[in-house]
Amino acid sequence: MLGAPALGLSTNRISTGYSFNWSTNEGGSMEFCDRNSEGFEKNAARHFQVLSNELRDPKILVCPADTSKRPALDFRNLGLANTSYLIRTGTNVDELHPNEILIRCPIHG
Ligand SMILES: [Zn+2]
Repeated sequence: MLGAPALGLSTNRISTGYSFNWSTNEGGSMEFCDRNSEGFEKNAARHFQVLSNELRDPKILVCPADTSKRPALDFRNLGLANTSYLIRTGTNVDELHPNEILIRCPIHG
């Protein structure tokens, strides 16, 4: 079953760090970062869009238990209505800080 841990692995596969810490000029999404008080992105979809090659299928961004979201047909049309998972960003969220939360499912924690 795919879920938040699988998403974490996908982003982990980028050996030079997480794409939200790279500029959009380098194929990242740093300029889209806009965090709430807990450090979670207000629009996770912007960050998942740049990972389309890694994630492959936008269906995995909807938790099977989340009936309030529907999978996007493609990454181009991905929005908040199509993503269950919350993503936490920041320059301190990287491989060197494995205790930092990266992805959270609002239903399963
Ligand atoms: Zn879940």
